Amino acid sequence: MEEKGREKAVAAMAACYQRFDPAAYLQYNYTPPRADFARKDSIVPWKLACLHRAFTEDDVSGELLVDIGSGPTLYQVLSGCEVFNKVILTDFLEVNRQELRRWLQDEAGCSLDWTPYLQHVCKLEGRRLSAWTEKAAKLRQVIADILPIDVHCSQPLAPDALPSAGADCLVSCFCLESVSPDLAAFTRALGHIWKLLRPGGHLLLIGALGESYYFGGPGVRIPVVPLNEAQVCASLKESSYTLIRLEVYTLPQDMRVGVDDVTGVFFAKARKD
Ligand code: SAM
Repeated sequence: MEEKGREKAVAAMAACYQRFDPAAYLQYNYTPPRADFARKDSIVPWKLACLHRAFTEDDVSGELLVDIGSGPTLYQVLSGCEVFNKVILTDFLEVNRQELRRWLQDEAGCSLDWTPYLQHVCKLEGRRLSAWTEKAAKLRQVIADILPIDVHCSQPLAPDALPSAGADCLVSCFCLESVSPDLAAFTRALGHIWKLLRPGGHLLLIGALGESYYFGGPGVRIPVVPLNEAQVCASLKESSYTLIRLEVYTLPQDMRVGVDDVTGVFFAKARKD
């Protein structure tokens, strides 16, 4: 695709996001059955287990963790906040950054209660359930900023947003494939965020498999690049990451609740050498 065509396709994706509804998105994806902590085969506990494992491996360490395309969610940094002294959240939309700020400042009107998430991750960490209040305080203490981002820009964050060495670790969940018009744009976006990472730093990437759309609110149908495992591996390689591990989850029938057509989820741990 020529440059003009690429810009048009990216602008069309941005237009789709203008009606994104954080409260509806949270309701669709972050309540039971997708977030059923009593079930091991529920999608959210699977993601939290992958992140817990990755963040407790000794090679994932340093000072700064950056979450790419946070949306209105916090689950993706609940393990990382115990390892990194500084966490930066990012999103393209002000409505999502606002939702995150509401939780950070402990204001009324949050669209989701993160308590069961905090409790579940405390359980994974071998702590008592009541430690969730300490984890919430820790998270509020380490979140240093909530910044605008555009992964389609060769410089996705404002020039001075990160120290010049880059972040020690990036985490990104369901962002790149759901904001890219095609596989080439997904791969390019991986290359753009690569520049935010220090050499030796890690990328923890979670994303949808086989998904062609999802609803970002009532009637807000957002197209997604349908990915398979081989494409994820090839895109990471093409963008100069070294793949360390790829794990795959297949959605049980009752998790297919009509808010998207996702068939599975991947978790990739990769490194910038
Ligand atoms: N990370 C969250 C999660 O795990 O549920 C949210 C994922 S949501 C499917 C995709 C997110 O990408 C939305 O929050 C949206 O605002 C954000 N987004 C849209 N366009 C973007 C862009 N060009 N660059 C970065 N993020 C973008």
